[in-house]
Amino acid sequence: MAKKKRRNSSIVIKNPTEIESMRKAGFIASDVLQGLIAALEIGKSTKDMDDLAAELMKEHGVKSAFLNYHGFPGQICISVNEEVIHGIGSPTRILAAGDVVKMDVGVVANGWIGDNASTHIMGDVQAADLETRQLLHATEQSLFDCIPYAKDGVNLADLCGSIEDSVRNREQNFGIVREFVGHGVGSILHEEPQIPNYRPLGKQPTLRSGMILAIEPMMTAGKPKVKILDDNWTVVTTDRKHSAHFEHTVLVTDNGGELLTDRPRAALPKQMLL
Ligand code: MG
Repeated sequence: MAKKKRRNSSIVIKNPTEIESMRKAGFIASDVLQGLIAALEIGKSTKDMDDLAAELMKEHGVKSAFLNYHGFPGQICISVNEEVIHGIGSPTRILAAGDVVKMDVGVVANGWIGDNASTHIMGDVQAADLETRQLLHATEQSLFDCIPYAKDGVNLADLCGSIEDSVRNREQNFGIVREFVGHGVGSILHEEPQIPNYRPLGKQPTLRSGMILAIEPMMTAGKPKVKILDDNWTVVTTDRKHSAHFEHTVLVTDNGGELLTDRPRAALPKQMLL
């Protein structure tokens, strides 16, 4: 889930015990998202996916970090096509071939939060228009391109700038959403700092090992402008063009970012299971 922009204050540095807890939370958030991706199917409703998220979280003994957050009514955010983020699962929104589906999963595991998201094209991906496929690729690549900057001593502005550069260094003129940003994450869903997907103006903090960031590029096929629908949650592109969203929870280390939400099930040591 993304944060609406406001001013910075102080950034929490996690101790080794807290980092281990965040690794567990990140693993589970990742496992739930992977389970949902595997279950995506034409003909299912977005509410079906939300219901499945509830089941998967229950299996892990965790709760949604989003449900009831400022009144959010879903287990996950599920946003289709022009919907960028914060979409709410609906029994009448049936997934069809060519739909661009964004799922954002946040879980609370023993009081610690893992947050991740990804975007998928329903049905035959090769049948989707080239622009949409390139948009998904560019958005995901911008997330990976900034991971080396999640490093002790790097200024946050350089991490944010690397996301912007990654998208701008392309032939296509994709939009970078400005009204919503990534965020620090820990025992609270939205901690400091804010992490815009473009080089921010003004003095920015220096990243330190032990900070944990939910980095989440949100890009559009057209103009970057977005608005919130009457449900007070769903963020859509004002020009109704497609959008993409990818997110990882990332630990800042001395050697660059460690992805906490990119853990295949088999890779998890037994002692890390809750
Ligand atoms: Mg988030």
